[in-house]
Amino acid sequence: MFDKILVANRGEIALRVIRACREMGIRSVAVHSTADADAMHVRMADESVCIGPPPSTNSYLSVPAIVSACEITGAQAIHPGYGFLSENANFVQVLEDHEITFIGPTAEHIRIMGDKITAKDTMKKLGVPCVPGSDGGVPDVAAAKKVAAEIGYPVIIKATAGGGGRGMKVARDEEGLEIAFRTARSEAKAAFGNDEVYIEKYLQKPRHIEIQVFGDGKGNAVHLGERDCSLQRRHQKVFEEAPGPVIDSATRSRIGKICADAVAQINYAGAGTIEFLFEDGEFYFIEMNTRLQVEHPVTEAIFGVDLVREQIRVAEGYPMSFTQEDLRVNGHAIEVRINAEKLPNFSPCPGRITQYHAPGGLGVRMDSALYDGYRIPPYYDSLIGKLIVHGRDRAEALARLKRALSELIVDGVDTTVPLFHALLNEPDIQTGNYSIHWLEKWLAENMG
Ligand code: ADP
Repeated sequence: MFDKILVANRGEIALRVIRACREMGIRSVAVHSTADADAMHVRMADESVCIGPPPSTNSYLSVPAIVSACEITGAQAIHPGYGFLSENANFVQVLEDHEITFIGPTAEHIRIMGDKITAKDTMKKLGVPCVPGSDGGVPDVAAAKKVAAEIGYPVIIKATAGGGGRGMKVARDEEGLEIAFRTARSEAKAAFGNDEVYIEKYLQKPRHIEIQVFGDGKGNAVHLGERDCSLQRRHQKVFEEAPGPVIDSATRSRIGKICADAVAQINYAGAGTIEFLFEDGEFYFIEMNTRLQVEHPVTEAIFGVDLVREQIRVAEGYPMSFTQEDLRVNGHAIEVRINAEKLPNFSPCPGRITQYHAPGGLGVRMDSALYDGYRIPPYYDSLIGKLIVHGRDRAEALARLKRALSELIVDGVDTTVPLFHALLNEPDIQTGNYSIHWLEKWLAENMG
């Protein structure tokens, strides 16, 4: 059993991991930049180490600083949270060399899934349905035109090294293809230092459905159903729910089994998410995230499991504490991401929180690192909290979300809370009738 875990992250996810450690009787070590000396994760952990100045490249992304913090404190394992070093294969390799356990998959699995072409190729071979497109990278415009003519327009050009919705361009016809190809390439080069791109059929009105999988690293794996994360702004999720409003239990079992079997075959360890676009009853793989996701609490709510606890157990070499048969969907859960941003432009809004009051009551979970008087630093992501509600069905979850949002007080900075109040009045949100383009269109019409 580990007796000390270092949490290489900040904000709500650092608290999330520290809480799991405490329940398991494991001591926790927080790391922080000088800008985060007063942060909640530092206060809540058993110990803390300052690892550098505010910019994350010199602190939360500094491998030497984090490894040193581990050695100074005697932490035997690192939980990376999401973002930062969570999908950095080199980091995992360094930890292996220092005999520090990484709570997550192997460096090799991270590497495979981090390269989108290799990931797609691997998944295809494992029997996972993929979006029609190029076999691997596309070297030039002529090759791009050939692929596009085969699969039919519109097409999307995507960066092999892509992430965060960057380096993607849609072409509606051959004329648009040349410019889309060149722009995607130069954006990919600038953002990821790698200009390789590939082409996929552009789906017109899909939903984003992702399957939560969990493996023990020894050839056993389960799935924990789907999350529907179709409500997105600039390819970033803002509202997530489980189960998906349009997925029935037979469909869940079918795609879930495909995903669990795929990760079992590669001896995948820990939590992972296989993301799909879903259109006209068909699933199309887009990528796999080899970490815990921001939206994992909706899955925890409906299955009644603690995914972080499970990650820690598996990293220690214990078997999973549940089998596929144990996992039954119970009710409906919704998460909204609360960002310190000013509407209508979603411009970051750091500053001092003059008053914070979290909602409570039956079926309400607020994951946040805020407190009265906290100063949100300008250096990091603008996510300041996640409000998760759980009800017996979707209607009850929606009503509970509305009630919980009305109790939440975050004074001193602008937040995205008014967006959710407005969305809950929309008939399409009430009925679950939305694709990945719904929110952008709504924003243009209502906040443009
Ligand atoms: P990233 O890693 O940058 O987030 P993804 O491959 O996960 O990139 O795609 C992000 C989003 O882009 C998807 O959720 C979807 O909204 C859109 N997208 C990606 N591929 C396609 C496609 N083939 N057709 C339509 N939309 C797509």
